[in-house]
Amino acid sequence: MRRRAGELAVDGGLPAFVYDLDALREHVAGIREALASGPELFYAAKANPDARILATVAPYVDGIEVASGGELEHVRRVLPQARLAFGGPGKTDAELALAVREAERIHVESPYELARLACLGHEADVLLRVNLAGDRRGVALAMSGPFGMDPEAIEACHEILAAAPWLRLRGVHAHLASGLDADAMLRQSAEILEWARPWLDKAGCTQAPEFNLGGGMAVDYTDPQSRFDWARYGREIASLAHPGQTLRIEPGRAVTVYAGWYVTRVLDVKKAHGQWYAVLSGGTHHLRTPATKNHDQPFTVIPQGEQGPSATSARVTLVGQLCTPKDVFAREIPVDRIAVGDVVAFSMAGAYAWNISHHDFLMHPKPSFHYLST
Ligand SMILES: *Cc1c(COP(=O)(O)O)cnc(C)c1O
Repeated sequence: MRRRAGELAVDGGLPAFVYDLDALREHVAGIREALASGPELFYAAKANPDARILATVAPYVDGIEVASGGELEHVRRVLPQARLAFGGPGKTDAELALAVREAERIHVESPYELARLACLGHEADVLLRVNLAGDRRGVALAMSGPFGMDPEAIEACHEILAAAPWLRLRGVHAHLASGLDADAMLRQSAEILEWARPWLDKAGCTQAPEFNLGGGMAVDYTDPQSRFDWARYGREIASLAHPGQTLRIEPGRAVTVYAGWYVTRVLDVKKAHGQWYAVLSGGTHHLRTPATKNHDQPFTVIPQGEQGPSATSARVTLVGQLCTPKDVFAREIPVDRIAVGDVVAFSMAGAYAWNISHHDFLMHPKPSFHYLST
């Protein structure tokens, strides 16, 4: 990575996203191996839908979860053979019409959405998305709000399904929170199954019921070396499975986050009101992750600067080129030295990074994209 960043700097290709496809392949192969005895693994495309990322992940996953018509069409183009599950709130009639043709599973978010799906008169295999209350304290992101149906509201689906025999109820979907470690994820998976098994039984879905347990496997930005314990999750989740039933998960962040770097260069180093700032080329319009999650993006400084201002043995705040105090990558981080011309490589930029960023704000140039692959 260090050599590659140096080359990019010499080429003048900064800021750049560098995706290490070799590392990604190895990582997702490891996840696959840990889940050898189930559950099925779908990749949530919204974490990073880059075509080469998708193609690298594809051989190791059972399918791709898409959350819009745009994602569906994109993934279908990149991976014509992939099994697709379509989820997400606010599906339009056009999206539902696309989904019944292209997705093998549709995750339904409300009774009204189910009724609109029924109106299409087209066969479809549906999972009903439930939103269990539960205690989600300590999670990175609880999916409270308009996602899925309360256990009471979901009852309204019986009648709609009964009147639309072309819709096949295949199971239950739940994606309740993000940022759960293996233990918390196992507890949550057990909670979902405990609710969903008798509910599906009562609903008459007794043949090969499916349980999509969602994504949200923890990623720790304060410790780039730590990893979700896939081996433990795989071992324990297999013991929650019942014969003839399918369990499925759909992680995104924990699959691709480690494979991406945002590499840029120091434009200025200065002190303001007693605080050191390094101003970098680019900004959170390329890498919005630290602004949206309000964290310090982990980074390494690769010394290249020979002249110009620098800070030594200081706490430095790394900012971008946007005219807003929110354009911050990391706050008051101790560094040995940072100088104008140095290259800064932010790690953990492979998920919810470029594709969630507001690219056109201030009309700076777009980053370049590079792929490491043997
Ligand atoms: C975002 C999302 C995922 C993936 O979540 P991660 O935190 O990236 O693992 C999975 N399922 C649904 C329904 C989602 O909205």
